[in-house]
Amino acid sequence: MILKTSKEILEEHILCNHCLGRQFGKISTSTNERRGKIIRNLLISLNPELVSDIDLQNPCFLCDNIFERTDEVVNNISPDFEFATFHAGTKIPDEIMKKEEMLKEKYCLQYQESIKQELNRELGKKIGSIIGKEFKREKEDVTILLHPYESKIDYFINPLFIYGRYNKLVRGLPQTKWLCRRCKGKGCSKCGNTGKMYDESIEELITELFLKETKGSDSSFHGAGREDIDVLMLGNGRPFVLEIKSPKIRNIDLQRLEQEINKMNEGKVKISELCFVEKEVVEKIKNTHLRKTYLAEIDVCLNEEEKNKIEEFFIDRDIYQETPNRVVHRRADKTRIRKVYKVLTSKENCSSLEIYCDGGLYIKELISGDEARTNPSIAELLGKNVKCVLLNVISIEEKV
Ligand SMILES: [Zn+2]
Ligand SMILES: [Zn+2]
Repeated sequence: MILKTSKEILEEHILCNHCLGRQFGKISTSTNERRGKIIRNLLISLNPELVSDIDLQNPCFLCDNIFERTDEVVNNISPDFEFATFHAGTKIPDEIMKKEEMLKEKYCLQYQESIKQELNRELGKKIGSIIGKEFKREKEDVTILLHPYESKIDYFINPLFIYGRYNKLVRGLPQTKWLCRRCKGKGCSKCGNTGKMYDESIEELITELFLKETKGSDSSFHGAGREDIDVLMLGNGRPFVLEIKSPKIRNIDLQRLEQEINKMNEGKVKISELCFVEKEVVEKIKNTHLRKTYLAEIDVCLNEEEKNKIEEFFIDRDIYQETPNRVVHRRADKTRIRKVYKVLTSKENCSSLEIYCDGGLYIKELISGDEARTNPSIAELLGKNVKCVLLNVISIEEKV
């Protein structure tokens, strides 16, 4: 059966051993080249008169003898960046894919393996041995896309993900770069041509040096939630993952960078616990609501009775919170349920509250009630207007 079909194919088309063997590639585990050679030799011995027709003198109809040029293709790889692991793929011209499809249909080649698969395999092996890097099926540092018929190579450098925690030590600093509302980043008179609402952000202060060291093209800052611009982030800090896109250097000394960044930003931002992580951590820190402890200053002085009332009421209490009035223009309007586990008042300071609660709860609104959009609230409980005047995050749960 194989011989008969092969004879029919070879009477019409010149195929190299790789391409001949590959038409029956899924039948046995031998290499395509070896299988092709065996088929060809058998055919020649059985049909001596066919020798000239099925011998290989002209370029292969399917692959144009690409398998003889694989060294050449691979030798063109000359990355100007650092990596340890790679994945390789090939781009095969459409006309070759079409020829292959045509053969498959014409001769009912149900065991045909595609040229792309074989080239990927052959080139992948060669790359590994030539550049001395490890082949990886996923989470590779770089994806190398070879265009064997154009002697062109594309590199897709995968991002670097760095986990850390930050403290914010001054008020008035946004977490991420905040584009100017009027010009959307282009630069206008309102923003003094910076394109930004604020000169600096935690993101920019942290990222600058990372981009310089890694020679990355761009970056994204993923925080585990965010504090308001006028809120300090104290204690053990807020988790974040910094994503560096297309880094040319991956081996960076995180400890040294941490020290340098902290020195540069002394009194403003401090980072800690830097380590390399996988991509999945980004989703994880964005979607988990870590419990937090806040220290809030309010605009009333609580008497003993009010203090007791607050402490007794806010124990494992569910809070129903509609998106606050002040952010509803940019966030979806929905009702969230978050727990307040504990509120502690202070002996020394009658307007101070320590609030231990789920992440994602808006604290200013927990205090003011936000025109009854947050229920229950401290204002409602006390039956009077209460406002938060100063807020700090003093601790975020460890687990990420
Ligand atoms: Zn071929
Ligand atoms: Zn502007």
